[in-house]
Amino acid sequence: MTRTQPKVTPLSFPMLEFEEAVARVRAQVQPLPPRAVTFTQALGHILAEDVVAGESLPPFPASVVDGYAVRAEDGRAPRRVVGEVTAGIAPRRPIGPGEAVWITTGAPIPEGANAVIKVEETERRDGAIVPLVDVRPGDNVRPVGHDIRAGEVVLHKGIHLHPAEVGVLAAVNALQVQVYPRPRVAVMSTGDELREPGAPLAPGQIRDSNRYTLMAAVQEAGGTPIDLGTVPDEEPALRAALERGLDKADVVISSGGVSMGSRDWLKTILAQMGTVHFGRVRVKPGKPITFATVRGKPIFALPGNPVSALVGFYLYVEPALHILAGDTEWERPRVRVRLAHDVRSERGRLEFQRARLEARNDGLWARVTGVQSSSRLLSMVGADVLLRLEADWEYVPAGTEVEGYVIR
Ligand code: AMP
Ligand code: MG
Repeated sequence: MTRTQPKVTPLSFPMLEFEEAVARVRAQVQPLPPRAVTFTQALGHILAEDVVAGESLPPFPASVVDGYAVRAEDGRAPRRVVGEVTAGIAPRRPIGPGEAVWITTGAPIPEGANAVIKVEETERRDGAIVPLVDVRPGDNVRPVGHDIRAGEVVLHKGIHLHPAEVGVLAAVNALQVQVYPRPRVAVMSTGDELREPGAPLAPGQIRDSNRYTLMAAVQEAGGTPIDLGTVPDEEPALRAALERGLDKADVVISSGGVSMGSRDWLKTILAQMGTVHFGRVRVKPGKPITFATVRGKPIFALPGNPVSALVGFYLYVEPALHILAGDTEWERPRVRVRLAHDVRSERGRLEFQRARLEARNDGLWARVTGVQSSSRLLSMVGADVLLRLEADWEYVPAGTEVEGYVIR
């Protein structure tokens, strides 16, 4: 039996430098079209419009303390207590000279009053209260709009909606807001050898871990994962799975099938379906990583080795997800760290080694997480940073300062 072979291999593509590969990804992605969500669903999104306060806060002059609302002009003279206002209740009548009204925090200042004296700064004498302090107009009063003025832009387009921002939306009665949606990301594993966790393993088979790693990574990056399952190394099945992903999602991620093997079909299929922007990068791990667009949607074909797949996600996929989610300026945080021990790296390729951070009195130190082979997913476990080891480095002595790309 003669079998067809993949025609497009890593050798079909120029070897790109890391920065160029990242730039090509960024050039191909843009924020998804904004949509309206209710403010209770807004958490975790990026705002796609300016939010203007429709109401002032407070909407009325309010007391800052529990005490007595008075006219400051009456000075230290005793005041007759003529009523009370508590929070949520409208004052029943104005106060006149020589009068006071018991008032609680957040209650509206009655007409005629212009200051509040704290209860603990008053004394009761003959059925009246006497201020123990000087009173100036405005004391302990929050004027209208003290916290938020109607008409003011309270939240600017492009900000992240965290808990405080959700609260601001509620406070100004912004019931619906335009946000950039979370990207939907379809994830598939490719490989004839892969079996689900829980299924028995026949000789030659291993479990599919990449799909679970990558779906979790999508979730951590703020995307919504869509499970495309495990796909054998067959051209029609792979093509059908990619099509399903393109139908259901904004981005497709696969792992496996992008190297020199006789059943590594993805590069060939992607070149037929759309445009391959790179198929080879001078980076370890993840040299054969492939990035394509089909019908305007990005497809990341990551290598099958579990470390290559996840490092590839952090380096190329995650920036794209943030841009799609409206965060066009997103950059992975980086830290300067010192090596806690000597490190060897491959000469000729930029290398990202996984390391754990140690905060010492004299700064941050990094310790590599054991054997760094790209099959060993345990090298990602407990890793805080990807240490950037430049292409022309080979032996890097302990104490050298290097850059760490923060992954957690
Ligand atoms: P490939 O990139 O398809 O040549 O796969 C490279 C290595 O990664 C092989 O040893 C595969 O068995 C392994 N591998 C591929 N896909 C997965 C996966 N989804 N989960 C775990 N290991 C995988
Ligand atoms: Mg494979």
